[in-house]
Parts: sequence; C-alpha cells; structure tokens
Amino acid sequence: TYVICEPCIDLKDSSCVDVCPVDCIHPGVNQLYIDPEECIDCGVCEPECPVEAIFMEEDVPEEWEDFIEINAVYFE
Ligand code: SF4
Repeated sequence: TYVICEPCIDLKDSSCVDVCPVDCIHPGVNQLYIDPEECIDCGVCEPECPVEAIFMEEDVPEEWEDFIEINAVYFE
C-alpha cells in the first residue's frame, strides 16, 4: 500500500484524489488518508503530490513510519 505522511497535514492539496483509479484516498480532518485495503499499489498518486507526502509503505522515511499505522487506523 501507499501511505500519506506528515507534509499533507493541514495542506490537503487533494491532487492525488483526482488520479486514484480506485478512489481509495479519503479526506480526514487533518490530512488525507489512503485505505490500505483498497490501494492497488499503482503509484499514480505519488508524483501528483506537490509536497511529496506519498510513499510506498516500504519507502516511508524512518521519521514518518508512524503514518503507516495512522493511515490504516483511519479506516478501522
Ligand atoms: Fe490510489 Fe494508486 Fe495511490 Fe494506491 S497507489 S492510493 S491505488 S493512486
């Protein structure tokens, strides 16, 4: 799955939402979240983000690893 990290907080640019083929990027109060159950790992959203907040789960920078859980928990 892909994960949305800290740069999205309070920005919520939403460019990624328009390109996701399965509509699995959802706006929350603080940031956008990717539903890990729905994401098909197509990678289309990643270059659309103007602040580089989106990473493949395996490539999330160490300081933002909490966001893997933060995205997943939003959909529980
Ligand atoms: Fe949507 Fe593809 Fe991004 Fe997953 S990787 S959130 S399916 S655009």
